[in-house]
Amino acid sequence: MENKKPNKKSDKIYYIIFTIVVLICAAVIFGITMMNKGEEKENLDLAYTELIKSINNKSVEKIEMTVGSTSVKVKLKDEDTEKEVIVPNTQAFIELVQDEVKNGNEIELIQNPENVILKISEMLLSFLPTLMIVVLFILIFKMQGLGEKGKVYDAESNKDTNVTFKDVAGLDEEKNELIEIVDFLKQPKKFQEMGAKIPKGILLCGKPGTGKTLIAKAIAGEAGVPFISMSGSEFIEMFAGLGASRVRKLFEKAKKISPCIIFIDEIDAIGSRRTNATGAESENNQTLNQLLVEMDGFESNETVIVLAATNRPEMLDKALLRPGRFDRQITVATPDAKGREEILKIHGANKKFANDINLKDIANDTAGFTGAELANVLNEAAIIATIKRHKEIRMNDLEDAVKKVTVGLEKHSRVISDKDKRLTAYHEAGHAIVSKFLPTQMEVKEVSIIPRGLAGGYTMYKTNEDKYYISKTEMEEKLIALLGGRAAEKIALNDISTGASNDIEVATEIARDMVTVYGMSDKIGPICLTSKEPYENRILGENIDDVIGAEVKNLIDKAYKHAQEIIIGNMDILHSVATRLLEKEIISAEEFNTFFN
Ligand code: ADP
Ligand code: ZN
Repeated sequence: MENKKPNKKSDKIYYIIFTIVVLICAAVIFGITMMNKGEEKENLDLAYTELIKSINNKSVEKIEMTVGSTSVKVKLKDEDTEKEVIVPNTQAFIELVQDEVKNGNEIELIQNPENVILKISEMLLSFLPTLMIVVLFILIFKMQGLGEKGKVYDAESNKDTNVTFKDVAGLDEEKNELIEIVDFLKQPKKFQEMGAKIPKGILLCGKPGTGKTLIAKAIAGEAGVPFISMSGSEFIEMFAGLGASRVRKLFEKAKKISPCIIFIDEIDAIGSRRTNATGAESENNQTLNQLLVEMDGFESNETVIVLAATNRPEMLDKALLRPGRFDRQITVATPDAKGREEILKIHGANKKFANDINLKDIANDTAGFTGAELANVLNEAAIIATIKRHKEIRMNDLEDAVKKVTVGLEKHSRVISDKDKRLTAYHEAGHAIVSKFLPTQMEVKEVSIIPRGLAGGYTMYKTNEDKYYISKTEMEEKLIALLGGRAAEKIALNDISTGASNDIEVATEIARDMVTVYGMSDKIGPICLTSKEPYENRILGENIDDVIGAEVKNLIDKAYKHAQEIIIGNMDILHSVATRLLEKEIISAEEFNTFFN
């Protein structure tokens, strides 16, 4: 991911240069027109024939000329100001004046050297159109050039990017599956002689930050082959046909430097289902078609392996997944507790830790975090420790960093009205108290009304295990806990606020998934309703959307009612917890539990 969109910047620079050139051109043209206009006006001062007459009358005192200019300054004897005259033939005019002077006419003739600035701007003006065209060509050329577009990390020559499997923590199964690719890249002959077919394309599926790029680089590093990477979004450009030509050039280059690895990040940007659309969509189709052609075009003896990453494999065009293309899928999961601890260790290796650091506890507190987020936690901890002038990173710096990454930074500076504070106190107390009565929900770890990020307050839960399955009861109770905040506001303050918007969004999403993904609705049964194919949704009739809607609403209504019942049954506790929150702003797990004795 670090080399995502590496060239957007240079494109921008070309745009800026182009704009500047256009602006300069405009300014120069404007300036020169203004100058010419000025000259024209002054020309009216004295006509050439008048000047000749005046010279003959001996009424001219001084004539000032500039080499290369037809404009002459004239001062007459009986006038104070100078006048400008345009002379048709300067050489002839000079000779004429010199003759006059020889013959006793007392004219002071001054000949100035050439006006350089004027000359240059005139030259510029004549070159401008050419210049603009040249700049335009460079611009187009640069945008098309793939030379700098696909980044090559040569494992041999660049030690920085020489990532190997030991830099990838956890992901043992994924590494095991990929180890044969490393062997193949190292000794392609051995496999070919045996008649083995090695996959050309491997799809890595997983959330952003789970280490897909990292593992692809590690394969290249282990095998000691170059790594070319591009992001799917880079193929989508404004000029038609460019995406397709980029794909072609990328593969051309790969074949030249093979054995090597091509890594295409965000492949869904080009590989989503083809449509009959026009414009940007059809451009997308062209790029995808080119990718299919290239995948089919190289033989397995070319030892180019294409790894592609996506978070939405279901969005990909089916053609991409056919045999001989991306026919192998590897899911890169978010790490479990052990994996998280290993990731923390790898990224903590260069950090100064105090003795009280326990990475295992941090790993247990960060269920659901990706590798990238864990790396970020350690970095934040180092920043927090520096700001607090600690000598080393302490455990509470790390804990603060976890909070910062999950709920955002504490905002002590924001001034909050007493009314808002009261509302937040009841809202958060509501979440915490309702969860206390739900057996499947985690224990409360901390309740706070200190604003963090966008939230006015937060209720943190303990996380103690990684779960692979979630039961229906657990999901129902999660809905109740999420709506506990809103329920408390309504019952205690007899009003509701916008503070619950995120809770409501999350709850609605869970309820919809229960109905359409996990088959937990009795009315619909265990049927997947997320398919994009219209045919499959028709199984259940035209009004299936109405049924889904009614079932989602039913789940939410039931949960909200339950939350209100818990609140009504525990009004005393609600008032005490909210009051304490207003006093102290933060309540720990121990203190929270004392309210229930
Ligand atoms: P993705 O390509 O899946 O979005 P990346 O490979 O770009 O994710 O991961 C981003 C960063 O997160 C990596 O550079 C690395 O620092 C860290 N990271 C992610 N997963 C792991 C892992 N399993 N082990 C070590 N570091 C990891
Ligand atoms: Zn809430």
